[in-house]
Amino acid sequence: MNKAPEAEILSVGTELLLGHVTNTDARDVSEMLSRIGLNVKYHSVVGDNPERLRQCVEIARGRADVIITTGGLGPTCDDLTKQVLADCFGLKLVRNEEVEKSLYEYIRTGRGLTPNTHQQALLPEGCTVFPNSCGTAPGCAFEKDGKVVVMLPGPPKECRAMFERSALPYLRRLSGEAIVSHSLNIFGIGESAVDDLFADEMNAMTNPSMAPYAKECDCLLQITAKAENEAEAEAMIAPVRAHVLQVLGEYVYGEDVDCIEEAVMKLLREHGRTFAACESCTGGDIARRFTELPGASAFFLGGAVTYTNAVKTELAGVPEALLAEKTAVSREVAQAMAEGIRERLGADLGVSVTGLAGPDGDGVHEVGTVFIALAAEGQIFVRETHMGSTRTRSFIRRMAGNHAFDMLRRYLSGMQVE
Ligand code: ATP
Repeated sequence: MNKAPEAEILSVGTELLLGHVTNTDARDVSEMLSRIGLNVKYHSVVGDNPERLRQCVEIARGRADVIITTGGLGPTCDDLTKQVLADCFGLKLVRNEEVEKSLYEYIRTGRGLTPNTHQQALLPEGCTVFPNSCGTAPGCAFEKDGKVVVMLPGPPKECRAMFERSALPYLRRLSGEAIVSHSLNIFGIGESAVDDLFADEMNAMTNPSMAPYAKECDCLLQITAKAENEAEAEAMIAPVRAHVLQVLGEYVYGEDVDCIEEAVMKLLREHGRTFAACESCTGGDIARRFTELPGASAFFLGGAVTYTNAVKTELAGVPEALLAEKTAVSREVAQAMAEGIRERLGADLGVSVTGLAGPDGDGVHEVGTVFIALAAEGQIFVRETHMGSTRTRSFIRRMAGNHAFDMLRRYLSGMQVE
């Protein structure tokens, strides 16, 4: 394959067009491809219709070197994707004995075999088969006419696992050179500020290259190097990484992590600490986000969603008089919530969030005013944020959660917290 191959992700599924399902596969695959420096140029979506899929494949092969499809591999779609892709590239579908054997294994263990599951053992001739560790439909990849085609299943868990285990190594091998990419995850300074800080350097760089990416409430800087081997690529990245860390310092919350809560979990593990959360406007989002991480139970004791004043008193022991005097959206109440939950649940650390996520205000504070507190033994920290009334409710809630995790991270790292 030539250098800098370009990819198109073609997602197959009528449910995506109808808006019933969000196309998270395209997002996940794009994100994972960027880690190996493969440029994604297009995302397209098509329904479960062979003719329209054929048209999309023809367009994709005209403008991309690598076509990655998601969905339409399982028995429910009559193997639409495999059939059409094989046809478009002039390949026959042939029975694959290995796959058939593993399907028989499914029959033997009685795990959800449907009448036409056996069709899944039909794969394009000469393809590389990708086993499905979380389901039945195998994926596959082939090279034909200078193009690379990779087919992944639709269910996000299956798609992600197969991409990481099988497609990524397959694509890495094809590129013939080592492409290494690392991201520095940043919170507390926006993507455009990061861009300003490094604009001149980034414009002057070719290999390694560096680019900032905005996420919903944080951002990352991706550094990518291409070399003959991985060690060489890593060595090229090292000084750039060191320079960025020096400039951005404490704003960098992690390296190659998915989210700030993951960085917090690492620190809690290192320091052997636990935490609890008392949430008002985040409505349990801090607990939900943290407990999505495997192993969360060793570090997160529990939490309370204390939406009304009465529940703030009942579950976190916030004094009624304090609520009456200061109102729920205040520094003092945030402190009392964090201290209350920490004490009641016997955690090392307590975090709390109280604020206005909007769209309606309380007549006193502007929407987007949120107080976030962290209680540690003998110490209390509070952040007062004003995110602006034009922010959406979901942004304010997510950002408030990020602040809580950032305070935990900074405290555990011995950095300034507020
Ligand atoms: P199987 O039918 O064996 O589950 P498949 O590859 O045929 O796998 P689809 O039938 O296309 O997958 O989709 C199965 C489910 O996976 C969909 O109903 C949807 O919930 C989810 N899904 C499909 N495509 C996507 C996508 N691009 N992003 C997120 N979820 C998706």
